Amino acid sequence: MERSDAGRLTSRQKLVYEAIKKRKEHPSAQTIHTILSDGGHDISMATVYRQLTNLVERGIVQRVDLGNDTRYCPGKTAHAHFHCNRCDNVTNVLTTRDIIHEIISSSHDNEKWRKGDEWCFSVQIVINGICDNCCGTRDISS
Ligand SMILES: [Zn+2]
Ligand SMILES: [Zn+2]
Repeated sequence: MERSDAGRLTSRQKLVYEAIKKRKEHPSAQTIHTILSDGGHDISMATVYRQLTNLVERGIVQRVDLGNDTRYCPGKTAHAHFHCNRCDNVTNVLTTRDIIHEIISSSHDNEKWRKGDEWCFSVQIVINGICDNCCGTRDISS
């Protein structure tokens, strides 16, 4: 465990956090539950939800709202996400401060933001499309 804050997690929180962190595709609560059950852990869906809520409140995990689904991201820095409509994976999109600045400059006071170190907003950008792996493939059922 390289992060000290993650080191203070309870064993159940750690289980849930590790399940998210190990995957690049940003799993849903249901997927996290399946991963843990398959791994031999006796953990209820309610417990998974409770731990997720706690991890989000502590800022260790971020929610990614896909409209009809919620996924979980272990990333610390603000970034956008790419959601593949075929395989349903969610991956990180490199999002620098300048890129975000560019996007919000029409509705946000740039000067105020530039002076401070703090983010005056949270970033929830989800780009829908077809990922590199799925481009050119038709059948993803196998
Ligand atoms: Zn992410
Ligand atoms: Zn895909």
